[in-house]
Amino acid sequence: MPFEKEKAVAIAAATAAAKVCEQVRQTMVPEAIEKKDRSPVTVADFGAQAVVCKALLEAFPNDPVVGEEDAGELKTPEMAERLQQVTSYVQQVAPEATPEAVTQWIDHGNGDVAARYWTLDPIDGTKGFLRKDQYAVALALVENGEIKVGVLACPALTIGDKTGILLVAVRGEGATMQAIAGGNPEPIQVTSSSDAEHFRFVESVESGHGDQSLQSAIAQAAGITAESMRMDSQAKYAAVASGQAVLYLRLPSPKSPDYREKIWDHAAGVIVVEEAGGRVTDMTGKPLDFSKAAKLVDNRGVIVSNGEIHDRVLSALK
Ligand code: AMP
Ligand code: MG
Repeated sequence: MPFEKEKAVAIAAATAAAKVCEQVRQTMVPEAIEKKDRSPVTVADFGAQAVVCKALLEAFPNDPVVGEEDAGELKTPEMAERLQQVTSYVQQVAPEATPEAVTQWIDHGNGDVAARYWTLDPIDGTKGFLRKDQYAVALALVENGEIKVGVLACPALTIGDKTGILLVAVRGEGATMQAIAGGNPEPIQVTSSSDAEHFRFVESVESGHGDQSLQSAIAQAAGITAESMRMDSQAKYAAVASGQAVLYLRLPSPKSPDYREKIWDHAAGVIVVEEAGGRVTDMTGKPLDFSKAAKLVDNRGVIVSNGEIHDRVLSALK
């Protein structure tokens, strides 16, 4: 099977990272450190990036990793105590971890987009993580611009009778979900637009990450009358891929019209939805271009759907 090793390594790495994040949520009140772009980062983001990068470094030493975090600030003397904290959480899944190794692993995630690379959001939805809402560990492998493998660990997500969901997709092989705690993977599929109960859309909790008035107008134009489900992180992709909703709208916020989406906020989610039978484009109908840079420089907005409703949404946007 193609990508068998990549898939196994990605599943193990995302599962270990999710464990670190949940340990942090259960044992301390994570404090947000403000980054240069004013977005928050916590010991869990650093710990999760260290764990995933360590696994990728050992299994695929030549693959660059384009991750969200870097250890620059964590290496300063003022942050020594914080680094020690990160190290002790990492030791719960990698007992050999030292502060030096942890910063090296984190910085392994400062790679560039290449012919083959991994992209990682160690905690997508850090604001949701801090609010005890949804968040995801998101990891994907991209080759020649095409996403080949994607894993989304959503520790706070409930689907059916399971809480803590791992979604996995390999190009051409479909998408599955399983409990992070273990168990058999089950195939997932987007739902049909005739499924009245799930004929609804998802959008961000953070109003600054989208355009909620336009999103609601577009959903209505596509025939959706139900209230939106608001969720943090790529758990929104999981909602579409598993048939909990038919549409995820992410239109540029009027407050930041020049914002460009980051590849790690989408790659894993995109392949999971596509392999579950759905469709993902930007707001003009173009595919998201993962071949260029850490930002989706040529795309504006993101439309994720069950496929069936997609063209109706694109026409409403015109
Ligand atoms: P969500 O949980 O879906 O609201 O998305 C969280 C992600 O939004 C973070 O990982 C950020 O990278 C990203 N983000 C930050 N600022 C913006 C913005 N102005 N527009 C869209 N996404 C943003
Ligand atoms: Mg993110």
